[in-house]
Amino acid sequence: MRSSGHMHWNIADWCNYRCSYCCEGRSEPAPEQRFIDEGMIAAGLAFLSGLPRPWVVRLSSGEPSAHPGLLDLVRRICALGHRAAMETNLSLPAERYLAFIAAAGGGLAYLHASLHLEQADPEEFLAKCLRLQESLRGQGVQDKLQVSAVALPERLAQIGELADRLRRQGLVLILQDCYDRRRRAFRPAPGGAISAQCRREAVAEFNREAGGPRGRLCAAGLRWLLLDFSGRLWRCQAARREEQASRLAESRGFLGDLRRGGGRRLGKPEPCPYECCLCPGRAIE
Ligand code: SF4
Ligand code: SF4
Repeated sequence: MRSSGHMHWNIADWCNYRCSYCCEGRSEPAPEQRFIDEGMIAAGLAFLSGLPRPWVVRLSSGEPSAHPGLLDLVRRICALGHRAAMETNLSLPAERYLAFIAAAGGGLAYLHASLHLEQADPEEFLAKCLRLQESLRGQGVQDKLQVSAVALPERLAQIGELADRLRRQGLVLILQDCYDRRRRAFRPAPGGAISAQCRREAVAEFNREAGGPRGRLCAAGLRWLLLDFSGRLWRCQAARREEQASRLAESRGFLGDLRRGGGRRLGKPEPCPYECCLCPGRAIE
């Protein structure tokens, strides 16, 4: 069934990795402040209960698989008639991800495993991917595992080799542009051989094309939403980033605070007001 929309839900504000290019620039919160609590979970689920079914709810930010209440949350999302997805660095034992898949059951949208070569052992990562792929294949849903790698310039040869090994197992590696925190921009991955081995998520190029996204009609806010760790709803990642950068109480893409009166969706696609899109191709009309 085609999904009605896609919501990224930041359920963690902490990660067990420390990638140099991490967009979020997280600090080190106390253990009890690393994950959304039951109050936030209840607010998020109440909002989801008002959306048409099914939306894909992608659990993300920091490392969501470390959330102690992950499996219960996934079951509650799916019980509402929505579909659960998760973006993870795959750093926990494979059993954690098999349990996520089992908790979602028929409501599983996908599991997105992201390889961060600065931090992860690629052989261990590959072995977990293949184990998950085998399990999903046994359930007839092998297309629900996505695998990506950040295009670290100095590791491209290694990434190409991993992509070949994944491809032999029926998995296409998604190559993600590396974020340059100092310049606040994505560095485009080089073309050449690596392009033939991977599927590119070309964020840098998207932002250069036709002068960037500003002015283009976009359905983010209508069919794509971001719910942040504090319960604030945003049109997209760029909207939240604008608020973080300017320290404004509200930005143009702020859609409400679920803990203080609820959130809203846009009624129709609206022109993009931003110069840099962090999630291109998801909501452009
Ligand atoms: S795994 Fe992701 S969230 Fe964690 S530090 Fe790396 S880029 Fe940031
Ligand atoms: S084009 Fe990108 S930055 Fe602009 S509103 Fe849409 S998702 Fe946000």
